[in-house]
Amino acid sequence: MEIRLKNLTKVFPGNAKKGIKDTVAVDNLDIVIPDGKLIGLLGPSGCGKSTTLYMIAGLLEPTSGEIWFGDEEVTRLSPDKRGIGLVFQNYALYPHMTIYKNIAFPLTNLRVDDVKKDKNGNPVLDEKGNEIRVKRKLYPEEIDSMVRETAKIVQIENFLERKPAQLSGGQQQRVAIARALVKRPKVLLLDEPLSNLDARLRLQTREEIRRIQTSTGVTTIFVTHDQEEAMSISDEIVVMKLGVKQQRAHPQEVYNNPCNKFVANFLGTPPINFFEGEIKGGKAIINGEEIVDVSAKKLKDQKVTIGIRPEGFEVNSKGTFHINVTSVETLGRDISIIGVHPNSERPTVKCIIDADTNVKPGTIALNVKPHKCFIFDKDTEERIF
Ligand code: ADP
Ligand code: MG
Repeated sequence: MEIRLKNLTKVFPGNAKKGIKDTVAVDNLDIVIPDGKLIGLLGPSGCGKSTTLYMIAGLLEPTSGEIWFGDEEVTRLSPDKRGIGLVFQNYALYPHMTIYKNIAFPLTNLRVDDVKKDKNGNPVLDEKGNEIRVKRKLYPEEIDSMVRETAKIVQIENFLERKPAQLSGGQQQRVAIARALVKRPKVLLLDEPLSNLDARLRLQTREEIRRIQTSTGVTTIFVTHDQEEAMSISDEIVVMKLGVKQQRAHPQEVYNNPCNKFVANFLGTPPINFFEGEIKGGKAIINGEEIVDVSAKKLKDQKVTIGIRPEGFEVNSKGTFHINVTSVETLGRDISIIGVHPNSERPTVKCIIDADTNVKPGTIALNVKPHKCFIFDKDTEERIF
């Protein structure tokens, strides 16, 4: 099911008397989420991710804008009519119920459309001889097969008689996902579903979520503030800042071609290095040293912010860029050089280079790989090269 958000906006009203301003949590969001894809909604805490998700789920009413599921507008539809499955960060399972009952729970009040039947199971006809359709509860055997089938998808079919406390965090999270999937939703909404798990389980469970999503083909929105998580799991990511969409693309594309300083900064560990610099005669210059040739873009001479990814440096005695190395950390395959530079925005500059390179503290010469170097307008912070 394709999901379309059109100019979606949510304002939480403030209180003028108490001097509390309105909060524009989501600002004119336009996103199309293609059928069967997993989209990562990524941004720092407070940027409007959960608010967006709850509007899609029908738990929050938008201030303006529209939400479409395929050809149907669902903006004002109640949550139970939307066919969504929702998993929260705190995936509270019912502690006194078995896993089986936890998963079956959403089905107990579900009504399905069916042909009216008599005691013998034969269709009841109206006076014109047409079948009569009714809404009915699910039969116990239908519930049973749906629960077992879903449990199999998330691989917890052997734990159905246990209570939640008898499962690990990762297994409990899979139960929460099963509970969201059991009604066969058209849309799966996951709000930071891994943040309560330890590092190893987080990795394992995110691979699991990807597998489940691929095998069911359910259109999924995965909300997280963790860039690595979003990058690893998503078909495409949408980066948000203060309620506003910044960029939407394939994860690698967002990393390789960030549209502004915020996006460049948000993706990548260790983070990108920023330097005060300038454009002069078609060259990008930091502290009087030429970094890259930017003449292809015909930029006017100006002060700029220059971003260089940690992997964007090469140690080379003929290099034009110099930093003062303060320490060298060996990471196995790579080494991490930590240094200082007078134009660096952060206290330290980080370079990740091949472990075969021999580096000692002191001044070293570096070359900068042009495709790892981004130049931003000093005021607007938009990327200009
Ligand atoms: P995220 O999930 O990205 O961390 P949220 O969507 O929860 O962000 O919040 C976005 C903004 O809206 C924040 O500034 C938050 O304080 C504000 N906000 C969220 N819910 C409410 C609410 N019920 N009333 C007022 N402000 C809210
Ligand atoms: Mg949130």
